[in-house]
Formats: sequence, structure tokens, C-alpha cells
Amino acid sequence: MNNSKIWLSSPHMGGNEQKYVQEAFDTNWIAPLGPNVNGFEKDLETYLKSNAHIGALSSGTAAIHLGLILLGVKAGDEVICQSMTFSASANPIMYLGATPVFIDSENETWNLCPHALESAIVDRTSKGKKPKAIIAVHLYGMPYKVDEVHAVADKYGIPVLEDSAEALGSHYKNKKCGTFGDIAALSFNGNKIITTSGGGAIVTQSKETKDKAVFLSTQARDNAPHYQHSEVGYNYRMSNICAGIGRGQMEVLDAHIQLRREMNQFYSSYFESIEGITVFTEPNTDYYSNHWLSAIIVNPDKTGGKTREDLRLALEAEGIESRPLWKPMHLQPVFESYPYYGNNVAEKLFENGLCLPSGSNLTVEDKLRIKDVFNAFFK
Ligand SMILES: *Cc1c(COP(=O)(O)O)cnc(C)c1O
Repeated sequence: MNNSKIWLSSPHMGGNEQKYVQEAFDTNWIAPLGPNVNGFEKDLETYLKSNAHIGALSSGTAAIHLGLILLGVKAGDEVICQSMTFSASANPIMYLGATPVFIDSENETWNLCPHALESAIVDRTSKGKKPKAIIAVHLYGMPYKVDEVHAVADKYGIPVLEDSAEALGSHYKNKKCGTFGDIAALSFNGNKIITTSGGGAIVTQSKETKDKAVFLSTQARDNAPHYQHSEVGYNYRMSNICAGIGRGQMEVLDAHIQLRREMNQFYSSYFESIEGITVFTEPNTDYYSNHWLSAIIVNPDKTGGKTREDLRLALEAEGIESRPLWKPMHLQPVFESYPYYGNNVAEKLFENGLCLPSGSNLTVEDKLRIKDVFNAFFK
């Protein structure tokens, strides 16, 4: 029996990554610029099929940080942020000395609740603090309620920074995630749908904004023979080595999304007959999730008292990784003193939700091992 660990989401190489990396070595482009960086940006622009202009960066967090700067966020400003997310959505607000205002989720997509969002904007504005930007997240690859959220943002004239770190390849009404915001962020960290080992990208609507992002990401060097600086810069550009991995990964992205979606289907089929378990899936056909991570809600009232933590421990005992949903930011010690608007939807999701192994590289044997644990647990 194979007892190797089954991970939530592990890197899955396509095969050509090393060819692009080798090219970088052969041509000595071992730097945060070069043909792979340009090629990877082109691949992403073609994939998103819009007029997007993309700058490859060292991380998704860097993309959010530069995105907020480009949207004009400054110290003392308030920035709205989805509470249920990974901390990297919110940390860049703090880097800028701005104040996060956290918003609850709705139950269908687990993302930004349009009603709580509007209440927050109205209340903050009445206190003389009109929010400077809204950070909306496509959690686990599930598109947020794009029409509703952007209608609220447009009504009050507040730009949206679309955190699409988990949603490359997802779409809403046939338009790809990453193309809805005034600015969007992508991530290619080790556990994401594709990886460059570590990396990210900023998606902008104009070449000018992209050029500005690249300028800031390479230490904001003015056009002069010596090193001349009129602005504070950052060292956030993607390495040409990492971009080579990205080019290889782009060749298999759609195939890997199919496999992640099959994992979601595997869980949906299994849990159809199990009382008290709901698999997180699209609310209707407007939504298409890459199902970066598959997640379930465990209702202990209907499982005979079995909780998501019981299931997590049962999986762990068999070397299978699972993980509670993102703990909402307004409950995190580092953020708990900041404003929050909502009705505790995210809290309840966090209490009962569990992410299950979702990688595109899981084998038939892996699925059998997972099934065995479920069978024993729910018998
Ligand atoms: C991974 C992730 C990020 C950050 O991306 P990094 O490349 O790891 O810096 C931001 N937001 C969300 C929702 C993420 O999942």
C-alpha cells in the first residue's frame, strides 16, 4: 500500500517547464527580466482574452500592494476588504498605513456580500471616511457576485481591486476572472492552480498602468544614465527563471482545471447520499469555478454530531491533508480591532467548512484512500 501523503494542492508540472528554464540558462537571462517574462505575460494576456495588460511580479501579494498604490491609496485612507480570505488580501492595506474595513460573505459564493458592502460604504461615508478602494476575492476559484458587487462599487464611484489569486481560469458570464476589476491580482504560489514556485501578476486595463506597475516593481528608476529616483520603488519583478516555469504551466492550465473540476465532481457524487454534507459548487450557470480547492460544509445536526474537525482528524490519521476554510480576517488577532460589517455568515462557514484534497495530480489510488476514510467515518 502506498502511504505517501495526500496534499490539499501540490505543484503539478506539465513537462515543458524545464525547457523554458533551460533556455534562460542557455541565453544567460538569469535576471528579473528577459524573454520568459515577456512570453509569460503574453500567454496570460492571450488567455484572459480581453484588453488586459499584465505585469509579472514576484508574488500575488506584491500585485495587491502595487494595485492599491496605483489606485491612489495612501496612509490614513480606508480600504474595504472581504473578511473571509487569505491574509495576503488584507496585509498590503497595512503596508500603506491605511485602515482595513472588513465585510461579510454571502452564502452562495462565500464572497463579498453586496448588501453588507453597501451598508459599510454608506456608514463609512457618513463618518467622513469614504473608502478609497474595494478588495473583492474569488474564493477557492468561485467568482464573486460580479454584477451586484460592481453595481454597488459603481454607484458610489469606488474602484475595485479584484483578488483573482485563486481564480485563474474561472469565469462569470463567459468573461474570465481577472478582467473585472480596475486592477486585478493573480498568484502563482506553490499551491495555486498553476505555479512558478512563487510569483504573481498585476492585471490592468491600460498599457500606461501596466508600465507604471513595472516601473514601481523595478525600484522606480527614472530615465537617466545614472540611477535617478523621483519616487519610492519596490523590488517586485518576476525572475526570468520563474517565468519559464510559468510558460510551461500555461500549456497545461486548462487541462489541470478540468482535473480539479473532476475532483469537485468526485466529492459531489460521493456526498450526494450523505446526510449533512454540502459540497461547495456554482450557484448557477453564470458561474464557472476552476475549483482550485474543493470544500464542504459539515452540518453536525444532520451527521449525528460529527463535526468538520472530526473529519479533518480522521483524514489526517491516514496521511490525508484537509484544512478548515480561511478564518475571517475580522476574527484574526492582528485585525480584530478594525471595523467589520455583516451578519456572521463567514464565521459560520469557517466553523463548519473544510477544504479537501483538490490537486490536478491526484491518482485513482489517492481517491480510493480518501473514499475509504469517508466510508469508515460516515458508516
Ligand atoms: C495566494 C493568495 C494571495 C497571495 O498570493 P502570493 O503569490 O502567495 O503572494 C492573495 N490572495 C489570495 C486570496 C490568495 O489565495
